[in-house]
Amino acid sequence: MSFVTPGEPLAVEEEAIPASGVYISRDGYLRSMIVGKATLDRYKKILHVKPVVRRDLTIRQGVIVEGLVINTSEDVAFVKIYSAENNKVNAIGLLHVSQVSSDYIRDINEYIRIGDIVKAKVINTNTPYLLTVKEPSTGVILAQCSNCGSILYLHSAGYLVCKNCGKQEKRKVAAGYLYSLR
Ligand SMILES: [Zn+2]
Repeated sequence: MSFVTPGEPLAVEEEAIPASGVYISRDGYLRSMIVGKATLDRYKKILHVKPVVRRDLTIRQGVIVEGLVINTSEDVAFVKIYSAENNKVNAIGLLHVSQVSSDYIRDINEYIRIGDIVKAKVINTNTPYLLTVKEPSTGVILAQCSNCGSILYLHSAGYLVCKNCGKQEKRKVAAGYLYSLR
């Protein structure tokens, strides 16, 4: 058993069958969905990750949560949820690329990046919590410039812009994005 974090590669696809807490990423790795302990059944070749963080009762289906994007792969963003209905919580949420937009998205990093603060809706009740940002009120509420680290401002044309270095970036922006250009 070893302690693992979201997105961490645990094995390649040919080595084991993914069970609870594990998903297969597009590059063929079995990766952890959650913070937990990984166990490989060496006889059956089944890989599990058991959560170390217990279920939080304030996080349930339909609740809007807020969190920090701590890791991404091509198809999943991992969100450290710190607030749910104005209660302080500590949980990991999983945002799949199919839950960012109704349109097809190849790479989630074109819309959500590490370091972004997001508002998202929870679509299930157990860990790992699954999130969606399809609704206009959900998405990125604060992002930093990938070039210089300054806060990005929302331009009325819909893109984000850095006042410091001028870089323009794209995100799936929530209606309540915190800083706007005026
Ligand atoms: Zn910048």
